[in-house]
Amino acid sequence: MDATRPPLPRLAAAAAAVTLAVAGVVVAAITGGGPGPEPAAAPAGATTVASGSGPARAVGWAPWDRDAAGRPLRWDPCTPVRFVLRADGAPPGAEADLAEALRRLAAATGHDLHLVGTTDEAPAADRPLVVRTAEGWRWAPVLVAWAAPGAGGTPLGPHDRGVAVPVAVRDGDRHALVTGQLVLNAARTDLRPGFGDRADAWGATLLHELGHLLGLDHVDDPAQLMAAAPGAGPVALGSGDLAGLAAVGADGGCVATPSPTVGRGLG
Ligand SMILES: [Zn+2]
Repeated sequence: MDATRPPLPRLAAAAAAVTLAVAGVVVAAITGGGPGPEPAAAPAGATTVASGSGPARAVGWAPWDRDAAGRPLRWDPCTPVRFVLRADGAPPGAEADLAEALRRLAAATGHDLHLVGTTDEAPAADRPLVVRTAEGWRWAPVLVAWAAPGAGGTPLGPHDRGVAVPVAVRDGDRHALVTGQLVLNAARTDLRPGFGDRADAWGATLLHELGHLLGLDHVDDPAQLMAAAPGAGPVALGSGDLAGLAAVGADGGCVATPSPTVGRGLG
Protein backbone atom coordinates (compact mmCIF):
# COMPACT_ATOMS: atom_id res chain seq x y z
CA MET A 1 0.00 0.00 0.00
CA ASP A 2 1.13 3.51 -0.75
CA ALA A 3 1.04 5.31 2.56
CA THR A 4 0.89 8.72 0.86
CA ARG A 5 -2.54 8.07 -0.62
CA PRO A 6 -5.80 7.88 1.34
CA PRO A 7 -7.71 4.58 1.33
CA LEU A 8 -9.83 4.09 -1.73
CA PRO A 9 -13.60 4.23 -1.28
CA ARG A 10 -15.48 0.97 -1.49
CA LEU A 11 -18.02 0.55 -4.25
CA ALA A 12 -21.05 -1.66 -4.21
CA ALA A 13 -20.88 -4.70 -6.43
CA ALA A 14 -22.42 -4.26 -9.86
CA ALA A 15 -26.16 -4.61 -9.45
CA ALA A 16 -27.41 -4.51 -12.99
CA ALA A 17 -28.15 -7.73 -14.80
CA VAL A 18 -28.27 -7.36 -18.56
CA THR A 19 -28.24 -10.07 -21.16
CA LEU A 20 -25.07 -10.18 -23.22
CA ALA A 21 -26.73 -11.35 -26.40
CA VAL A 22 -28.33 -8.17 -27.72
CA ALA A 23 -29.35 -7.66 -31.31
CA GLY A 24 -27.05 -5.26 -33.10
CA VAL A 25 -24.30 -5.49 -30.53
CA VAL A 26 -21.22 -7.57 -31.07
CA VAL A 27 -19.41 -8.65 -27.94
CA ALA A 28 -15.98 -10.18 -28.14
CA ALA A 29 -13.36 -11.07 -25.59
CA ILE A 30 -9.73 -12.00 -25.64
CA THR A 31 -7.85 -14.05 -23.12
CA GLY A 32 -4.23 -13.63 -22.32
CA GLY A 33 -2.34 -15.70 -19.79
CA GLY A 34 1.02 -14.01 -19.75
CA PRO A 35 3.91 -16.44 -19.55
CA GLY A 36 2.55 -19.95 -19.63
CA PRO A 37 -0.27 -21.61 -21.50
CA GLU A 38 -3.13 -19.55 -22.81
CA PRO A 39 -6.56 -20.58 -21.55
CA ALA A 40 -8.96 -22.06 -24.05
CA ALA A 41 -12.35 -21.45 -22.47
CA ALA A 42 -14.45 -18.40 -23.21
CA PRO A 43 -16.77 -16.46 -20.97
CA ALA A 44 -20.39 -17.29 -21.58
CA GLY A 45 -21.90 -15.06 -24.22
CA ALA A 46 -18.57 -13.82 -25.51
CA THR A 47 -16.49 -14.72 -28.51
CA THR A 48 -12.91 -15.55 -27.69
CA VAL A 49 -10.16 -14.58 -30.07
CA ALA A 50 -7.09 -16.70 -29.46
CA SER A 51 -4.29 -14.31 -28.58
CA GLY A 52 -1.54 -14.23 -31.14
CA SER A 53 -2.83 -17.29 -32.95
CA GLY A 54 -3.05 -15.66 -36.36
CA PRO A 55 -0.55 -16.42 -39.09
CA ALA A 56 1.00 -12.94 -39.17
CA ARG A 57 2.20 -12.15 -35.67
CA ALA A 58 3.96 -8.83 -35.58
CA VAL A 59 7.42 -8.35 -34.14
CA GLY A 60 6.85 -4.93 -32.61
CA TRP A 61 3.20 -4.87 -31.68
CA ALA A 62 -0.14 -6.21 -32.83
CA PRO A 63 -3.69 -4.97 -32.34
CA TRP A 64 -6.19 -7.26 -30.71
CA ASP A 65 -8.76 -6.37 -33.37
CA ARG A 66 -9.55 -3.70 -35.93
CA ASP A 67 -12.62 -1.64 -36.70
CA ALA A 68 -14.42 -1.65 -40.04
CA ALA A 69 -11.99 0.96 -41.37
CA GLY A 70 -9.01 -1.20 -40.49
CA ARG A 71 -7.89 0.88 -37.54
CA PRO A 72 -6.82 -0.79 -34.28
CA LEU A 73 -9.79 -1.18 -31.96
CA ARG A 74 -9.45 1.26 -29.05
CA TRP A 75 -11.01 2.69 -25.95
CA ASP A 76 -12.29 6.23 -26.32
CA PRO A 77 -9.40 8.41 -25.10
CA CYS A 78 -11.81 11.30 -24.56
CA THR A 79 -13.52 9.47 -21.68
CA PRO A 80 -11.74 8.23 -18.53
CA VAL A 81 -11.34 4.46 -18.31
CA ARG A 82 -12.42 3.43 -14.82
CA PHE A 83 -10.97 0.50 -12.87
CA VAL A 84 -12.02 -1.11 -9.59
CA LEU A 85 -9.85 -3.44 -7.53
CA ARG A 86 -11.27 -6.39 -5.63
CA ALA A 87 -9.54 -6.25 -2.26
CA ASP A 88 -10.40 -9.82 -1.23
CA GLY A 89 -7.64 -12.20 -2.24
CA ALA A 90 -5.29 -9.53 -3.53
CA PRO A 91 -1.62 -9.99 -2.54
CA PRO A 92 0.31 -7.40 -0.54
CA GLY A 93 1.07 -4.36 -2.64
CA ALA A 94 -1.66 -5.09 -5.18
CA GLU A 95 -3.20 -1.64 -5.00
CA ALA A 96 0.14 0.12 -5.34
CA ASP A 97 1.19 -2.19 -8.19
CA LEU A 98 -2.06 -1.62 -10.05
CA ALA A 99 -1.77 2.14 -9.58
CA GLU A 100 1.80 2.09 -10.89
CA ALA A 101 0.89 -0.08 -13.89
CA LEU A 102 -1.98 2.26 -14.75
CA ARG A 103 0.36 5.25 -14.39
CA ARG A 104 2.86 3.75 -16.85
CA LEU A 105 0.16 2.78 -19.33
CA ALA A 106 -1.56 6.15 -19.09
CA ALA A 107 1.74 7.80 -19.94
CA ALA A 108 2.22 5.48 -22.91
CA THR A 109 -1.32 5.79 -24.30
CA GLY A 110 -2.54 9.21 -23.30
CA HIS A 111 -5.62 7.53 -21.82
CA ASP A 112 -6.97 8.69 -18.46
CA LEU A 113 -6.77 5.37 -16.59
CA HIS A 114 -8.50 5.94 -13.29
CA LEU A 115 -8.53 3.58 -10.29
CA VAL A 116 -11.80 4.67 -8.71
CA GLY A 117 -11.97 2.35 -5.72
CA THR A 118 -12.08 -1.12 -4.29
CA THR A 119 -14.98 -3.51 -4.55
CA ASP A 120 -16.24 -6.78 -3.15
CA GLU A 121 -17.39 -7.87 -6.61
CA ALA A 122 -16.02 -11.25 -7.71
CA PRO A 123 -15.02 -11.95 -11.30
CA ALA A 124 -17.64 -13.78 -13.33
CA ALA A 125 -17.96 -14.95 -16.89
CA ASP A 126 -21.44 -13.44 -17.03
CA ARG A 127 -20.52 -10.16 -15.40
CA PRO A 128 -22.94 -7.41 -16.41
CA LEU A 129 -21.55 -5.01 -18.97
CA VAL A 130 -23.35 -1.99 -17.53
CA VAL A 131 -24.10 -0.53 -14.12
CA ARG A 132 -26.76 1.93 -13.02
CA THR A 133 -25.39 5.03 -11.34
CA ALA A 134 -26.91 8.26 -10.09
CA GLU A 135 -26.21 9.67 -13.55
CA GLY A 136 -27.86 6.73 -15.33
CA TRP A 137 -26.51 3.62 -17.01
CA ARG A 138 -22.78 3.42 -17.63
CA TRP A 139 -20.43 0.78 -18.96
CA ALA A 140 -19.17 -1.21 -15.99
CA PRO A 141 -15.73 -0.26 -14.69
CA VAL A 142 -12.93 -2.69 -15.49
CA LEU A 143 -12.74 -5.21 -12.65
CA VAL A 144 -9.25 -6.23 -11.49
CA ALA A 145 -9.45 -9.25 -9.18
CA TRP A 146 -7.27 -11.99 -7.77
CA ALA A 147 -9.16 -15.27 -7.73
CA ALA A 148 -8.71 -19.03 -7.89
CA PRO A 149 -8.39 -20.64 -11.33
CA GLY A 150 -11.80 -21.03 -12.91
CA ALA A 151 -13.50 -18.76 -10.39
CA GLY A 152 -16.86 -17.55 -11.61
CA GLY A 153 -16.46 -19.48 -14.83
CA THR A 154 -13.68 -17.17 -15.98
CA PRO A 155 -11.04 -18.67 -18.29
CA LEU A 156 -8.16 -18.60 -15.80
CA GLY A 157 -6.10 -21.78 -16.05
CA PRO A 158 -4.30 -23.32 -13.07
CA HIS A 159 -0.85 -22.27 -14.28
CA ASP A 160 -1.74 -18.88 -15.77
CA ARG A 161 -0.59 -15.73 -14.05
CA GLY A 162 -3.72 -14.01 -15.21
CA VAL A 163 -6.18 -13.47 -18.02
CA ALA A 164 -7.58 -10.35 -19.60
CA VAL A 165 -11.13 -10.20 -20.90
CA PRO A 166 -11.63 -6.90 -22.73
CA VAL A 167 -15.10 -6.37 -24.12
CA ALA A 168 -15.75 -4.49 -27.33
CA VAL A 169 -19.21 -3.44 -28.45
CA ARG A 170 -20.31 -2.43 -31.93
CA ASP A 171 -23.40 -0.47 -32.84
CA GLY A 172 -23.35 0.48 -36.49
CA ASP A 173 -20.17 2.44 -37.08
CA ARG A 174 -19.66 2.93 -33.35
CA HIS A 175 -17.18 0.29 -32.26
CA ALA A 176 -15.01 0.49 -29.16
CA LEU A 177 -13.65 -1.28 -26.14
CA VAL A 178 -15.98 -0.42 -23.29
CA THR A 179 -15.39 -2.67 -20.26
CA GLY A 180 -13.64 -5.84 -19.18
CA GLN A 181 -12.04 -7.89 -16.45
CA LEU A 182 -8.53 -8.77 -15.38
CA VAL A 183 -8.36 -11.96 -13.34
CA LEU A 184 -5.06 -12.67 -11.60
CA ASN A 185 -4.22 -16.10 -10.25
CA ALA A 186 -4.37 -16.05 -6.46
CA ALA A 187 -2.81 -19.52 -6.41
CA ARG A 188 0.45 -18.19 -7.89
CA THR A 189 2.08 -17.50 -4.53
CA ASP A 190 5.48 -17.72 -6.25
CA LEU A 191 4.93 -14.26 -7.74
CA ARG A 192 6.17 -11.16 -5.95
CA PRO A 193 4.80 -7.66 -5.50
CA GLY A 194 6.38 -4.83 -7.44
CA PHE A 195 8.20 -4.46 -10.74
CA GLY A 196 11.48 -6.21 -9.98
CA ASP A 197 11.80 -8.79 -12.76
CA ARG A 198 9.39 -9.89 -15.45
CA ALA A 199 10.05 -13.51 -14.47
CA ASP A 200 8.14 -13.24 -11.21
CA ALA A 201 6.78 -9.73 -10.62
CA TRP A 202 3.06 -9.05 -10.37
CA GLY A 203 3.82 -5.67 -11.92
CA ALA A 204 4.92 -7.37 -15.16
CA THR A 205 1.75 -9.46 -15.25
CA LEU A 206 -0.41 -6.40 -14.67
CA LEU A 207 1.29 -4.48 -17.48
CA HIS A 208 0.91 -7.45 -19.86
CA GLU A 209 -2.74 -8.14 -19.08
CA LEU A 210 -3.64 -4.45 -19.07
CA GLY A 211 -1.91 -4.25 -22.45
CA HIS A 212 -4.42 -6.80 -23.74
CA LEU A 213 -7.25 -4.89 -22.12
CA LEU A 214 -6.17 -1.70 -23.86
CA GLY A 215 -6.19 -3.39 -27.26
CA LEU A 216 -2.90 -5.21 -27.84
CA ASP A 217 -2.32 -8.80 -28.88
CA HIS A 218 0.76 -10.94 -28.36
CA VAL A 219 3.96 -10.55 -30.35
CA ASP A 220 6.83 -12.95 -30.94
CA ASP A 221 9.61 -10.55 -29.88
CA PRO A 222 10.62 -11.63 -26.34
CA ALA A 223 11.95 -8.13 -25.65
CA GLN A 224 8.38 -6.85 -25.51
CA LEU A 225 6.16 -7.23 -22.46
CA MET A 226 3.39 -8.24 -24.88
CA ALA A 227 5.36 -11.37 -25.81
CA ALA A 228 3.37 -14.47 -24.89
CA ALA A 229 6.39 -15.60 -22.86
CA PRO A 230 8.38 -12.51 -21.83
CA GLY A 231 10.99 -14.55 -19.95
CA ALA A 232 13.22 -12.74 -17.47
CA GLY A 233 14.61 -9.22 -17.35
CA PRO A 234 13.66 -5.70 -16.35
CA VAL A 235 9.96 -4.87 -16.17
CA ALA A 236 9.99 -2.15 -18.79
CA LEU A 237 7.77 -1.51 -21.79
CA GLY A 238 9.72 -2.24 -24.97
CA SER A 239 9.81 -0.15 -28.13
CA GLY A 240 7.13 -2.29 -29.73
CA ASP A 241 4.96 -2.15 -26.61
CA LEU A 242 5.24 1.65 -26.60
CA ALA A 243 4.44 1.93 -30.32
CA GLY A 244 1.40 -0.29 -29.88
CA LEU A 245 0.15 1.54 -26.83
CA ALA A 246 0.49 4.84 -28.68
CA ALA A 247 -1.47 3.38 -31.61
CA VAL A 248 -4.37 2.36 -29.37
CA GLY A 249 -4.12 5.59 -27.39
CA ALA A 250 -5.09 9.19 -27.64
CA ASP A 251 -3.16 10.17 -30.76
CA GLY A 252 -5.95 8.91 -33.01
CA GLY A 253 -8.53 11.19 -31.41
CA CYS A 254 -11.87 10.39 -29.84
CA VAL A 255 -13.63 7.08 -30.59
CA ALA A 256 -17.38 6.95 -31.20
CA THR A 257 -18.56 4.60 -28.46
CA PRO A 258 -21.94 2.84 -28.35
CA SER A 259 -24.31 4.01 -25.66
CA PRO A 260 -24.54 1.67 -22.66
CA THR A 261 -28.28 1.57 -23.24
CA VAL A 262 -28.06 0.53 -26.89
CA GLY A 263 -30.35 -2.35 -27.69
CA ARG A 264 -31.14 -2.97 -24.03
CA GLY A 265 -34.30 -0.98 -23.46
CA LEU A 266 -32.75 0.63 -20.39
CA GLY A 267 -34.07 3.90 -19.16
ZN1 LIG B 1 -1.09 -12.53 -22.92
